[in-house]
Amino acid sequence: MINIVLFGPPGAGKGTQSRKIIEKYELIHLSTGELLRKHMEEGTYMGKLAQKFIDEGNLVPDEVVIKMVEFKIDSHKDANGFIYDGFPRTVAQAEELDVMLKMRGMEISLMLALEVDDKELRARLKLRGETSGRTDDQNIQRINNRIKVYKAKTLPVADYYRRQSKYQGINGVGYVDGIFNEISMFIDLIK
Ligand code: AMP
Repeated sequence: MINIVLFGPPGAGKGTQSRKIIEKYELIHLSTGELLRKHMEEGTYMGKLAQKFIDEGNLVPDEVVIKMVEFKIDSHKDANGFIYDGFPRTVAQAEELDVMLKMRGMEISLMLALEVDDKELRARLKLRGETSGRTDDQNIQRINNRIKVYKAKTLPVADYYRRQSKYQGINGVGYVDGIFNEISMFIDLIK
């Protein structure tokens, strides 16, 4: 079972690359952002709880996200593996994920980290805000806050996997297919 963390700041291209990876390798896409947006659309209790955190560009509490991930993993027992997109976003989530996987006889195989500079990120998020319909993409303060939160709370997650020798950086600026080819090369190595 392959378990890959696709890592990177907001706007790095995780969603785009995830879609290509799941198609080629027949993996399950586990995007906590997408799962949360679905809850919000459906107006569930969890969605209502998450809304204000998301709108302000803050992180949803760890317990909420972890429960959602656990449920998703357990509903795909026969999967070839998972791509974690936008998760883990805190060291506590990474630790919890390790425990969760260990209990199920699995572990994280690799972290692929899309590296994109700040200037490019802000430009991409602003552009995405014009079409995505996402409330958190549509305002420069929220975008800036998401990048700030990323640096303070999420970036340490990269070190967590570096210490386990599972970190692999990928240049996230360039053509989508070129970036995907590099990603594929690393996935082929662990298959
Ligand atoms: P994303 O689609 O991954 O950019 O996520 C959109 C928003 O959902 C984030 O800005 C957070 O508010 C929330 N979110 C998504 N994943 C997580 C996570 N793993 N932990 C906490 N909050 C999350």
